[in-house]
Amino acid sequence: MYTFVLPSGPEIELREMTGAEEELLTNQRLIRSGDAVNQVLANCIVRMGENEEVSTKDVLDMLSGDRLFVLVRLRQVSLGDEVELDPVCPNTACRAKNHILVDLNDLPVTPYGEEREFVFTLPGSGRKVRFVHLDGHKEKRLAQISEPNISSAMMIRILEIDGAAPSKKTLAEMSMRDRAALRAEMLRVDAGIDTNVECDCESCGARIRTKLEAESSFLFPQVRS
Ligand SMILES: [Zn+2]
Repeated sequence: MYTFVLPSGPEIELREMTGAEEELLTNQRLIRSGDAVNQVLANCIVRMGENEEVSTKDVLDMLSGDRLFVLVRLRQVSLGDEVELDPVCPNTACRAKNHILVDLNDLPVTPYGEEREFVFTLPGSGRKVRFVHLDGHKEKRLAQISEPNISSAMMIRILEIDGAAPSKKTLAEMSMRDRAALRAEMLRVDAGIDTNVECDCESCGARIRTKLEAESSFLFPQVRS
């Protein structure tokens, strides 16, 4: 068993992934609904704090930073610390395949603060926004939105604006200045593990940005493109 401390504080114990988890992670239906990762986390988290019977409900209750942290550590204990990526250059005139080697031990981890709810006053309108962290339930709702955008990702974290539930309309009407300030505030209180990978294209020098968990070699090193 492997023991780690979550970005939100509690200690967890993990077991390695097996063939059962690989089956889950290759099931397209479960991947689309987001349930594949939830089931894998519930299977492989042997203990979370005092809880020794971790269910998918417990996994959905977890903050998103904790969830991604566990996924990265699970990858490490099951498949090793090194991830080889072959991102394709986003420059359409180039499209060169690059090669990056990432050591998962090097990813920065930020602990969560004590607060679980935040009140932010928008600089332009002066309206008060009450919001929370992203968790598994919210991730699942986001996965069900057919065309998720910045607004949906923001709205899903907002409990109320001046005491009223947020709507698409309130967010669409919010000034760009207020939206940018709110987005920055949400980022400021975020925590967890930073899985952003960046490099310059070896052929043309264009910036390449990706997220580790978006690359197939993160969980399936044998199927590198
Ligand atoms: Zn390039």
